[in-house]
Amino acid sequence: MKAPAFEFATPASLPEVFTLLAQHGDEAQLLAGGQTLLATLNMRLSEPMLLIDLSAISELHGITVGTDTLRIGALVTHTEIEHSPLVRMHAPLLTMAAPYIAHRAIRNRGTWGGSIAYADPAAEWPACALALDAVVVVRSASGERRIAAADFFVDLYTTSLAAGEVIVACELPLTPTLRSGFDELARRHGDYAIVGLAVALQLDSAVISAPRLAFLGIGRTPFRARQTEQFLRGRALTSATCDTVVQVLHQELEGDNAPLADLTNSSDTKRHLAGVLLRRVLLGMASHHQEEPHV
Ligand code: FAD
Repeated sequence: MKAPAFEFATPASLPEVFTLLAQHGDEAQLLAGGQTLLATLNMRLSEPMLLIDLSAISELHGITVGTDTLRIGALVTHTEIEHSPLVRMHAPLLTMAAPYIAHRAIRNRGTWGGSIAYADPAAEWPACALALDAVVVVRSASGERRIAAADFFVDLYTTSLAAGEVIVACELPLTPTLRSGFDELARRHGDYAIVGLAVALQLDSAVISAPRLAFLGIGRTPFRARQTEQFLRGRALTSATCDTVVQVLHQELEGDNAPLADLTNSSDTKRHLAGVLLRRVLLGMASHHQEEPHV
């Protein structure tokens, strides 16, 4: 199908965007990489009168390091993140996860901010943002708000963004001792994951502190497995821990936290796969830790 007819604006600054949003309200939609939005227009799932192309707004581009944070602009593409030396150094979880996002053509156009705004629970960036304790920086005509990732993703494809607000960037705290792991299971490379897992934790010798486990493809939002994190806190990252933690996760993914089935995978299958991933990612982090030279 073809997209419905719409007007197109390419403002050069955020104040111009805010004016257009105030004038057109629900009839206007922001356009970043278009990799989700244009597909929904073509399928007539959405019929905005006006698309506001953000691409000319320079302050939404770029990756920078400050005193305490790595800042990733909303218009930074998945490919830019994948190849960024700054990201590799300060947020290697994103470097690990990027190749799993769709295919090269989509990664070349799709953006960090577009993915965070769309809040697909099967997408990689929302789960990584949660695991990395990101802060989403949003702006509107009335000023700036900073929203913790844990408060940003509120329901299926739903965020705490208010009308008139634009994601400007996300800030990730700089934690040099943070260890990361990422893996996901998909039918074919480039498909959305059936289940995926982003892990961030710290190790003192081999003892785990501040673990953050963020699953994608499990629930209506990216899912922090907080009971399982509690089990891991203070334990040594050994193969025995990697085995026993799977039972804890299985118990956590019961009842209200039971994974949502999809067209081809039952809730039980997803619970099983989540355990497989957790064990695999933690074992990988444990063996990587053992290989590191101790000084
Ligand atoms: P757009 O499509 O331009 O916008 C998406 C939504 O976000 C729109 O509602 C728009 O108004 C809003 N928006 C955009 N920018 C902002 C902003 N700065 N502030 C506020 N709102 C904003 N993604 C994955 O994570 N994993 C995958 O495996 C994956 N596979 C894909 C496979 C295919 C075939 C396709 C077409 C897409 C796939 N995607 C996948 C989605 C892709 O990553 C998109 O790039 C991403 O979801 C949206 O980014 P975008 O920049 O294209 O946003």
